[in-house]
Amino acid sequence: MNAVLLVSSFLLLFSLPAEAKKLKVVTTLSDLASLAQTIGGDRVDAESIAKGYQDPHFVEPKPSFVLKLHDADVLIVAGLELEIGYLPPLLDQSRNERIRPTGAGYLDASTGCEILEKPTTAVTRAMGDVHPFGNPHYWLDPRNGRVVARAIAAKLSALDPAGADLFQKNLAGFEARLAEAEKRWQQKLAGYAGTKVVTYHASWPNFAKYFKLDVVGYLEPKPGIPPTPQHKLEIINLMREQKVPLILMEVYFDRKDPDFVASKTGAEVVMMPPSVGGEPAAKDYISLFDFDVDRIVAALQRKK
Ligand SMILES: [Zn+2]
Repeated sequence: MNAVLLVSSFLLLFSLPAEAKKLKVVTTLSDLASLAQTIGGDRVDAESIAKGYQDPHFVEPKPSFVLKLHDADVLIVAGLELEIGYLPPLLDQSRNERIRPTGAGYLDASTGCEILEKPTTAVTRAMGDVHPFGNPHYWLDPRNGRVVARAIAAKLSALDPAGADLFQKNLAGFEARLAEAEKRWQQKLAGYAGTKVVTYHASWPNFAKYFKLDVVGYLEPKPGIPPTPQHKLEIINLMREQKVPLILMEVYFDRKDPDFVASKTGAEVVMMPPSVGGEPAAKDYISLFDFDVDRIVAALQRKK
């Protein structure tokens, strides 16, 4: 074998696995992993740190997360300090410059999204408020999901230009399915505009705005602070006065307080997964909304 042949077969040998190598995408939320996998298709392996049935503010750091972050090409975060309680030390230990906020592989999904409850005064963490920069549960509005999907397509295309056409095609397919789904959801909830709800945590302002529900109170006195006896009494009085039919509760909280408040007010507790995988049927971004919309409609039909 002459030298040229040797070199070219050597290159072939090592270029093939490189071409087959998938982008490793790590996300903090399962919703972001679902969107990244949908857009990235078979050129991407997307994996989430938090499971959909876990409180996204309080994820227990594990050594395995450090390894995942070490190997990651892309890190997608919700931002707005949703991950402040666990991600910074994991990032430090991962020693992966690509996925730091200054790195090419970092994507803050909140950029360009509609963020509600932005503070108008100086930011404090008074009483442990875990939403100091506005509400970080913005992915629960499908219009924000569309913004995030586009940002993911742009980020993946920048890191893997050979895949850009595929990412655009997958994005277009996602947007078409989302548009169809939005019609379906709006039809199902059409008769319930203005319905008053109380939620456990302030996870639902974007969801409520989009679906025209009216959140009149929270079981938590402040985001991240468990219900106190005094606050429960206030919520019970408020719900009686305003005839609130539903308490929406994230699947990772204890039912004890919501059930108590429901027993005093006649309201129904609706278990709502706020993320993909929070219930097995909520298996991707679109079916998450299908699941939550159906749960609300079923509860309101029982209230008729
Ligand atoms: Zn929160």
